[in-house]
Amino acid sequence: MNSNRRNFIKTSALVAASLAIPSSKIMSTNKLNKTLQNKTSGKMKLSWTPFDLQLKHVFTISGFSRKTTPVVLTRIEYDGLVGYGEASLPPYLGETQASVIEFLKKVDLSSFSDPTQLDEILHYIDHITANNTAAKAAVDIALHDLVGKMIGAPWHKMWGLNKYEVPDTTFTIGIDTDEIVREKTREVMGDFNILKIKVGGEHDKRMIEAIRSVTDLPMAVDVNQGWKDKHEALDMIHWLKEKGIVMIEQPMPKHDYENTAWLTERSPLPIFADESLQRLHDIERMKGVFSGINIKLMKCTGMREAWKMRNLAEALGMKVMIGCMTETSCAISAASQLSAGLDFADLDGALLIANDCFEGAKLENGKLIASDLPGIGVKPAQELKFSR
Ligand code: MG
Repeated sequence: MNSNRRNFIKTSALVAASLAIPSSKIMSTNKLNKTLQNKTSGKMKLSWTPFDLQLKHVFTISGFSRKTTPVVLTRIEYDGLVGYGEASLPPYLGETQASVIEFLKKVDLSSFSDPTQLDEILHYIDHITANNTAAKAAVDIALHDLVGKMIGAPWHKMWGLNKYEVPDTTFTIGIDTDEIVREKTREVMGDFNILKIKVGGEHDKRMIEAIRSVTDLPMAVDVNQGWKDKHEALDMIHWLKEKGIVMIEQPMPKHDYENTAWLTERSPLPIFADESLQRLHDIERMKGVFSGINIKLMKCTGMREAWKMRNLAEALGMKVMIGCMTETSCAISAASQLSAGLDFADLDGALLIANDCFEGAKLENGKLIASDLPGIGVKPAQELKFSR
């Protein structure tokens, strides 16, 4: 018996004694370790399939309108277990199904014999190319799903989070006519406790008034860089606060740190960075410019970096929200794993599509709650044909 193993058994006995856990339970931990050791024999097989999400409504944000969102779904098989992932590709971010597939073709997992070595594997994935963050997220998410299934636990448990202690998810209402925003608001009022309004158009105040005419729900406002003058922006924020708005996302152009910092210092509402930041290394620059950051798996290469970003931002005293693109319940469930304890959650992506091909996190009393399934907590809702 090697000393590590002896120490493990000794520690297990001590833990069992102090917690009054029956030793049979501790042995099951031991069995788990054995299972994991046995599962490091095969090879990981990565495959994928492009998929087009059909939106329930035409979606307009400052500058763009669309009815579909392309995604690429991924699958990593290993010793009879399967992990699922996803790259969501809204056109304005620059990645396409073709660029994701080109990236995935470059991925060679054959030199990695143990999927639980996430650090090593994802370091390799990140260094295949400089960008392709959604493609990298598709591998990261599938790997997290697989590893969670190997260990037999969902990630929120492994991260020590209470899956019920999540913020209410916002439901996003795009820029539209007064009549349509009123109708959309009425449709979702009973299901959500907070709305997110896309502004930055010519008729922002009229649209907010239209929504206010049918609901008292708190609202977040996403400007998508749409305001250019800091004084007008500050006046608008004061007006919005009077109207029950609780936070502002990306009010000014993404590189305009100086005017954004001026605005944040004076704003009565917290100001969150979205387009201004992508990844972990961007966060330090956000300190003093924004009150908080919006983490999105597709921008930051996936769950591993998202978890690091959350911890760094919190350590810097910043607020944190988790957001999404239009995504299936696959990527949304992955994001839901780390949403407990955050300031805001904007995880309505799968609720906006008509052809969700995964089942996972579900809306319960306005909160998106992860399932109890291991990994990212999903299963396919239809047959999907993956290939490479
Ligand atoms: Mg945003």
